[in-house]
Amino acid sequence: MFESVSPDSFRAFHREFQGDTWDICERCGGMCEINKIGSLMPGEAEYLAESLGHSVEEFREQYLDGIITPYGVVDVLKLKPGCPFLSADYRCTIKDVKVVLCDVYPVVFEVEDEKVHFFLDEWCPIVRHVPELSAIFEQKAIPALRRIDAPLNWYRAVEMYDELCVDYNKIVQKRNSEAGYATLTLDQILDCVADNAPPPELREPSTKPGLPIILNR
Ligand code: SF4
Repeated sequence: MFESVSPDSFRAFHREFQGDTWDICERCGGMCEINKIGSLMPGEAEYLAESLGHSVEEFREQYLDGIITPYGVVDVLKLKPGCPFLSADYRCTIKDVKVVLCDVYPVVFEVEDEKVHFFLDEWCPIVRHVPELSAIFEQKAIPALRRIDAPLNWYRAVEMYDELCVDYNKIVQKRNSEAGYATLTLDQILDCVADNAPPPELREPSTKPGLPIILNR
C-alpha cells in the first residue's frame, strides 16, 4: 500500500496548474493516449470519485484497473482502448480535476538516489517542436507536481512501465474480467509492449472541428 496524497494536495495542484495542449494533440493524433498507460496517484481515485459524485467502488469499477507491482497495486485508467473522459473534439471532460500525470504530460520522471527527477519526454512532439509550450510545462508543471509530494515508492512502481508504449488490443485479451476493476501483473503488461510505436510527428493544423479519436491519457 502507498500512503495517500490528501484531497487538499490535489486541489492545490489543480489551482496551480492546468495543462492544455489539445490543438497540438489533435495534430499528433493523440498518440500518447493510444500508446501509454495513465496512472493515478494514491488517493487520486478517492479524490476523483468524490469530485465527480461517485462512490469509490463505483468509480474504480467504471473507470479504473490496477497494475500489480512489487511496491503495491497502482490504479490506472481502464486498460482498454479509449478514454472515458475525452470528448470527440479532444477536450478532457474532467479538466478541473484531470488525472495529474495526464495533466502534466509531457513531463515524466525517473527515480535515482532516493530522489524523483522530472524532465520532458522527447517522445512527445511538443518537446521536439514546440519549445514555448515545453517551457511552460517545465516551469509550471514540474514545481506543481513536486508540491504534491507523492510517495517515492509509488514513483518507483510507476517508473517500471510508464515509459513503455503498449498494445491495448493485447492487454484487453489479458484482462481478468470484462467489467469491473481488473488487476494485471507487471509481467502481463510487459508482454504487451508495442514494438512499433515510433515517436509521433505533428500533422498540419486541421480546418475541421475535432474528429472523434480513441484516446487513453
Ligand atoms: S504525445 Fe504529446 S502532442 Fe501527442 S497527444 Fe500526447 S501530449 Fe499531445
